[in-house]
Amino acid sequence: MHFYSLHTKSHTATFKEAVISGIAPDRGLYFPKRIQPLPPSFFREIGALSNHEIAFRAIAQFVLEDIPRSKLEEIIANTLDFDFPLVNLEGNVSTLELFHGPTMAFKDVGARFMANCLGHFSEGNNEKVTVLVATSGDTGGAVANGFLGVDGVNVVILYPKGKVSDIQERQLTTLGENITALEVDGTFDDCQRMVKKAFLDHEITHRQKLTSANSINVARWLPQLFYYLFAFKQARDIAGDIVFSVPSGNFGNICAGMVAHRLGMPIKQFVASTNANDVVPNFMKNGQYQPKASIATISNAMDVGDPSNFIRIQELFGTDFVALSKMLSSHSFSDDETKSAMRSIYERTGYILDPHGAVGYLGLKKYLKSHPDRFGIFLETAHPIKFLPVIKDTLGIDLPIPPQIQKVMDKQKVAVPISDYDGLKDFLTKNTQFSK
Ligand SMILES: *Cc1c(COP(=O)(O)O)cnc(C)c1O
Repeated sequence: MHFYSLHTKSHTATFKEAVISGIAPDRGLYFPKRIQPLPPSFFREIGALSNHEIAFRAIAQFVLEDIPRSKLEEIIANTLDFDFPLVNLEGNVSTLELFHGPTMAFKDVGARFMANCLGHFSEGNNEKVTVLVATSGDTGGAVANGFLGVDGVNVVILYPKGKVSDIQERQLTTLGENITALEVDGTFDDCQRMVKKAFLDHEITHRQKLTSANSINVARWLPQLFYYLFAFKQARDIAGDIVFSVPSGNFGNICAGMVAHRLGMPIKQFVASTNANDVVPNFMKNGQYQPKASIATISNAMDVGDPSNFIRIQELFGTDFVALSKMLSSHSFSDDETKSAMRSIYERTGYILDPHGAVGYLGLKKYLKSHPDRFGIFLETAHPIKFLPVIKDTLGIDLPIPPQIQKVMDKQKVAVPISDYDGLKDFLTKNTQFSK
């Protein structure tokens, strides 16, 4: 029993149970019971380890109760078959590029790891699982790609009509097989509300096993800690004290980074960089957590007004605000500031930041102003091609389409239009392919 619910702490679950149900029966998020630090030799010798070995040693303690060693090795090899380069931009500022995966957003790692785990758990099991997920853009493509062709698993993706980019829409509507896209006449918040309602609807859940592929699912959340170790492997010789700035929306990525810190990785500070959705920056200022309706920005994957993983960060620090403040700073930036950072970096270095990475850059620069001797790494969470209109508008340039994206450009979009919750319910209950 490795996980407990953050709601009723006495409720526990194995890794397998936590992955299959996504969220605890009491609606709490799952959290690891123990985080056992890795030996100091792991960090001393990390330069000699492959990314696959690093990932295996970092995640083993959380999953080996339910996945055999050789299977875990296979899952990691399937998940991590691309690079995570650390690129120096200027002086003590580098970026860790997390966009070299199949859908060119960092969510590929979590989505593929979860898909492989769920595929493993449904082997030899006749019960089908339906993954239900709402997306504002990037999650849908990564989940569709990660779960494509996984036996025993059907994926249903809800996305807001006309509110995702052309490339994002193609990534989630053109794959077919076990992936179905529902085009919702509404906003992302409507999609998310419908998904949450379905999880509580017994007429649906008695017929089919539903799970979530958002970052509340531990199999999507935890593997993100790999990034920080991969950065450390590349930076350990040049770096002094390392600071990470993470462009944050639901705060799953940065929270996984904090788990890497608990594993013993030497990190001096985390900076949570947000767009105008500033619930966490405000909390770090005044200790009051006040969720708000989300505000639309150019870094739309971070338009979140009530970040679901922040409760996990608080749990890591035992809700000790002083201890948390020592480790975490948080700053919010406007779209104008974001665009001017994109322009300034492009003019000075030729590097093209996507709007999310630009927010991460801004947070890092703000922190380094008062800590100039530290070594800063901000995470570049998506390839700029995914936000082509913003790039064109801000930098006045066109980008060549990379092969991963070209692959979906000529395919036919297939999506089922729905307009309300009844539409979703009808779809799930009338299609027998989704029954248990
Ligand atoms: C999802 C996403 C984020 C936010 O990550 P969280 O883990 O939700 O904080 C940042 N940038 C991009 C490009 C994303 O797709």
